[in-house]
Amino acid sequence: MGLLRILPYGHPFLRQRARPVGEITAEIQTLIDDMVETMIAAPGIGLAANQVSCSPRLFVANPAPDHDPNQLVVLLNPELVEGYGLLEIEEGCLSIPTVYEGVRRYRRVLVRGIDRHGRPLEVEGRDLLARIFQHELDHLDGLLFIDRLSDAKRVLLRSKLRKTLPRR
Ligand code: ZN
Repeated sequence: MGLLRILPYGHPFLRQRARPVGEITAEIQTLIDDMVETMIAAPGIGLAANQVSCSPRLFVANPAPDHDPNQLVVLLNPELVEGYGLLEIEEGCLSIPTVYEGVRRYRRVLVRGIDRHGRPLEVEGRDLLARIFQHELDHLDGLLFIDRLSDAKRVLLRSKLRKTLPRR
């Protein structure tokens, strides 16, 4: 078990699409445990594998403020099945820690994938959990929440984002 480094905005790996998980190996189990630990330590409410430099298509999510393990969702090969009702809410990202902006997303979604034991899993998310699911699905497709802002908003953010770029 160990904490993983969360890649900052500007890192090219965040723009890569995650790859579907085939066999669920011991390495993937360790990755899941480390991702949960990293999410709690951040602290955050969701984390996608490519945020920690790993390519398997999986995310961890927990909307509970106290990280109640009963509310933890681990989903491998997740896909959005259905979404209902659009809502704009302010959103942030562990990879872009200084930016919070309103993003329109579904209020309720159904996602499908497999759990960490390879069993089919379908989860309905409402409100915050629905938002996390959509945010993490975007990560796994190489998208960030700022990509969903209007052009005008992105122009305003540009200089702020440039300051967050890692110095080389
Ligand atoms: Zn994020």
